[in-house]
Amino acid sequence: MDIYPDLCKLIGADQTSVNETILRNHSKDESDHAASEPDVVVFPESSEDVQKVLRYANKHKIPVVPFGAGSGLEGQAIPVNKGISIDFERMNKVIEVRPEDLVVIVQPGITRIQLNEELKKYGLFFPVDPGADATIGGMASTNASGTMTVRYGGMRDQVLNLKVVLADGRIIETGSLAKKSSSGLHLNGLFVGSEGTLGVFTEIALKLHGIPEDIVAARCSFPSVKSCVEAATAILTAGVPMARMELVDARSIRQANEYSDTDYEVAPSLFFEFHGNKGGNKEDIEFVRAIVEEAGCLEFLFETDSLKRTALWKARHELNYAYRHGNPQLACMTTDVCVPISKLAENVEFASNKLDEYGFKGGVVGHVGDGNFHTMIMYDPKVEGEFEKAVEFSHQMVKLALKSGGTCTGEHGVGLGKIDFQREEHGEAMEIMLALKRTLDPNQILNPGKIFPKE
Ligand SMILES: Cc1cc2nc3c(=O)[nH]c(=O)nc-3n(C[C@H](O)[C@H](O)[C@H](O)COP(=O)(O)OP(=O)(O)OC[C@H]3O[C@@H](n4cnc5c(N)ncnc54)[C@H](O)[C@@H]3O)c2cc1C
Repeated sequence: MDIYPDLCKLIGADQTSVNETILRNHSKDESDHAASEPDVVVFPESSEDVQKVLRYANKHKIPVVPFGAGSGLEGQAIPVNKGISIDFERMNKVIEVRPEDLVVIVQPGITRIQLNEELKKYGLFFPVDPGADATIGGMASTNASGTMTVRYGGMRDQVLNLKVVLADGRIIETGSLAKKSSSGLHLNGLFVGSEGTLGVFTEIALKLHGIPEDIVAARCSFPSVKSCVEAATAILTAGVPMARMELVDARSIRQANEYSDTDYEVAPSLFFEFHGNKGGNKEDIEFVRAIVEEAGCLEFLFETDSLKRTALWKARHELNYAYRHGNPQLACMTTDVCVPISKLAENVEFASNKLDEYGFKGGVVGHVGDGNFHTMIMYDPKVEGEFEKAVEFSHQMVKLALKSGGTCTGEHGVGLGKIDFQREEHGEAMEIMLALKRTLDPNQILNPGKIFPKE
């Protein structure tokens, strides 16, 4: 059957494409997983367009894969079984800002940077900041988080309501605009993080936050990664309300200095940000200073003006790109485990030692406040066996994280890369997840091949 003319008739030829370049652009994301082109790409402009596409796909059992910015790191947006890729670039508007409610309702294709630009005039911001300029739909779909999650939470904490088109074309809303609710089951929590396998989001209501009166950034270097992690743990257990607390190891500082316009001391470091008012921040900073000095900090420096503060976080956000650009002949595999804070030092040290053992270039960075960290493993795809060694390394990280009571993915999601660990991590609960998938998508059209192990 020829899907293309049918879809042209259904939603219009100007919203449907089989152009070679467009198909190629929807065949991959930012991960190492093999590319696979969809048969057709559609560009919906409304929930009703999405509804028409899903009804058609469900009737003919055609796979459907939503596509955001394609910045996923686990192959989530790759149409491994071909079918229809739904690109949300034309559904990228703010629908409504409700400043007095601290709520915004958006279409899924808006990116986080675009959203924050629009929120500035209200003195508000949206705090989830993955390193890429991802779409809000993609971020909700992977339960993304970022450097401010230690203070504000990840996507699951921000989403108040989703308009979702189900596999059979029914449209539901999963929550409300109230800050909290005890009504019914937590469908927001179920759909956020479902990676396009349970439904397609066409509207998203998010919590917003006031831009703090005073923002101070600081960085602090230590003699070892272990002392960084111990300092971070002490700050957390002391209850200091950190807005950001990021670990950057010495290798990553060197890489950042080469790529960004910075000359930070090459030593394991913590990057901090304090949000509050002047008085409160002053007290918090003094408290943190005492803790890091006790943990053996080498220097504690402030980035007081906003340009230097922006440069600090730009350098942190762009570290993945810094590694890629600094080593153009190598590929980058990024691990993403999350462990209880008490096990963080052991897990980070393990990763650091493994990089040396395997002889890989790369480094360790992490949202240490959440127990979530990444090892950037730089491998040469042209050297036989290197990719397999990198995968083995990544699997060893997951095994240790699970043994530590943690999870195989803190924020990047399952996609294709973490399917094999789902049964081990979730045990009998996996059966409940599979039952939910069967109920919501009996024809298995929604992003097949992702998250759920074969039954
Ligand atoms: C340099 C770099 C740094 C990164 N840093 C972080 C980080 O700090 N934290 C983090 O969490 N992630 C990070 N990521 C990963 C990535 O940015 C996130 O996974 C992000 O949430 C993906 O969003 P996207 O718009 O690119 O979605 P895509 O990659 O296009 O898609 C991701 C998933 O969302 C689904 N999807 C997209 N739109 C919809 C919709 N409307 N309805 C239902 N499902 C939908 C897709 O089907 C797919 O399953 C990073 C990636 C890069 C390249």
